[in-house]
Amino acid sequence: MQSGPGALAAFGWPSVKSLTSSREEADAASTDAMRALDQVAQAGFDPYVSVKLTQLGLDVGEHVAVVNATRLLERAGAVGGFVCIDMEGSTYTTRTIELFRGLRARFDNVGIVLQACLYRTWQDAHDLQELGARMRIVKGAYSEAAHIAYRRKRDTDRNYARLMEYLLLHGTAPAIATHDDALVERACTFADRHEVGRDRFEFQMLYGVRRDVKERFIQQGYRVRVYVPYGSQWYPYLTRRLAERPANLLFMAGSVVRERRAGRESG
Ligand SMILES: Cc1cc2nc3c(=O)[nH]c(=O)nc-3n(C[C@H](O)[C@H](O)[C@H](O)COP(=O)(O)OP(=O)(O)OC[C@H]3O[C@@H](n4cnc5c(N)ncnc54)[C@H](O)[C@@H]3O)c2cc1C
Repeated sequence: MQSGPGALAAFGWPSVKSLTSSREEADAASTDAMRALDQVAQAGFDPYVSVKLTQLGLDVGEHVAVVNATRLLERAGAVGGFVCIDMEGSTYTTRTIELFRGLRARFDNVGIVLQACLYRTWQDAHDLQELGARMRIVKGAYSEAAHIAYRRKRDTDRNYARLMEYLLLHGTAPAIATHDDALVERACTFADRHEVGRDRFEFQMLYGVRRDVKERFIQQGYRVRVYVPYGSQWYPYLTRRLAERPANLLFMAGSVVRERRAGRESG
């Protein structure tokens, strides 16, 4: 489950729909996450899980998500673990941040994801930094409207770079979650130039993607965490996500080809 100093467990691709529609499903999702934490800890790795608040019941009732998140954070605390709250589509952004603030007031071991595609994220990053919150920066996986989000890849990439550099200088153990070579290289160069130690931030990538990069970075002393699907629903979840976004099939095929090519060249 791990590549490097930590392990990250999570539910694969995102959804625009709520992930649970009943209290029972929400409770089961938090139990799955607790089990993942326990198993990662028992295996001797750094216990770290990612969850979406809709998985924990946000649309069933905010109190359901809070109760489940509290249970999960208490369990994480008991095993020395960490919980990262994934960011969902923009209809959830404000609620996710508000709920995160409430959790962060009670727990140190909780972090949040911010999406570089949203205009609001620069302000959110500053506000959350004042709380000392651990943040993961991603480009954003949801199709958002032009009045709230950058629509062109190059604009999102530019905003990502700005946020990444801000978090490298001022953030608390920020996570740079991308497979984009240009951004990853830029992070390394920026960190070196500003004497940000390689242990003060981490790269996060999806399981199975860019294994060549992950291994090279670990050898160079960077922290690399891998996002691994977990829980009883991971397979139906993965196939639903692939059906919703067939481009992911191309991504996966491309990764396999690249890895095979890298393997042939090194072997
Ligand atoms: C650890 C982690 C956690 C995430 N959490 C969230 C979250 O909470 N909320 C959210 O909205 N988004 C999340 N994402 C998804 C993110 O927003 C992007 O949609 C996704 O990472 C693709 O963007 P990229 O930064 O890799 O850059 P891109 O420019 O999209 O991709 C760069 C290159 O990486 C490769 N690549 C990218 N994605 C894949 C893939 N799925 N499979 C194979 N190859 C790929 C391709 O070669 C591509 O050319 C997460 C991503 C990661 C890695």
